[in-house]
Amino acid sequence: MFHSRHFTPVPLAEGIYALEATETGGAMSNAGIIDMGGFILVFDTFNTPQAGKDLSEAARQLFGEQPVKYVVNSHWHGDHVRGNQHFTGAVIVSTSRTREMMLKTQPAWLARMQPLLPQLAADLSAVSDKLAAETDTAVRTRLSGERQVLLEIQESIETLTITCPELTYESKLTIRGTKRSVELLSLGQAHTVCDSVLYSPADALIFGGDVIAAYNHPLFQDGDPHSWLGALDRLEALGARTVVPGHGPVSNASCIGAMRQYIHDLLNLIGTLQAAGTDADIAGIPVPDAYRDWKAAGVFTRNLEFLLQEQE
Ligand SMILES: [Zn+2]
Repeated sequence: MFHSRHFTPVPLAEGIYALEATETGGAMSNAGIIDMGGFILVFDTFNTPQAGKDLSEAARQLFGEQPVKYVVNSHWHGDHVRGNQHFTGAVIVSTSRTREMMLKTQPAWLARMQPLLPQLAADLSAVSDKLAAETDTAVRTRLSGERQVLLEIQESIETLTITCPELTYESKLTIRGTKRSVELLSLGQAHTVCDSVLYSPADALIFGGDVIAAYNHPLFQDGDPHSWLGALDRLEALGARTVVPGHGPVSNASCIGAMRQYIHDLLNLIGTLQAAGTDADIAGIPVPDAYRDWKAAGVFTRNLEFLLQEQE
């Protein structure tokens, strides 16, 4: 099995792997590799070029010399598209709206990050000095974790070439191989202004991008939680047995229901606050018990703030 510090390959069906992001690598989100029969399709490319490079290598090792012909970007967020540059020769596909948003946001992000490199180098050398002087094992583990994160960021800024989709679609695109056909479906506005999912009918399997987060707080602020609920209904109606979320472990259809519940719960929370008519102290609202173990806990408060502003 291919080994990478960025992800763990999880076999899902004959010819289909999910790549689950590790805690400490440069992937940040999940991706997929599908043997279509005659060619390979990759779904999303992680947060950094170095993780994208390993993804490309994994495709080659898992499926031999079959070329990666298509790379799908589920949405424009950097943690799903920054490995694109390592798929030269493949056609990168997204909805036209996702491509527009990538062009609008990704070069600007890189231009903001590049001037931070000197500070990053200074932070790295400070952490390295501390690490060299530290003898306590627990502190050393924490410091080397911090150092690894900084190294991943440094490498990604230094090596990133913004690479955008060249093939775009609007509502549905079917890609046919000799082994299977898959459908790219635009669910419209959900986690962002336009989210794509990949559906393989023969495998009853969905790569959900960030329309689905499992045991992770999903970010509301770039999308619309109201139409997100409709997107989840459409997704559920496909009847998939395997659902690969954008974040969190590979799941089944239950994670679609969990997302719906999360959105409803937060909308209800805001509704109750507003009915009480007092100035809400959003930061003081604790994460509900049902979501206490979910990762990215800071996103919970941001989501409430977003919903409150939306009402104003
Ligand atoms: Zn996202």
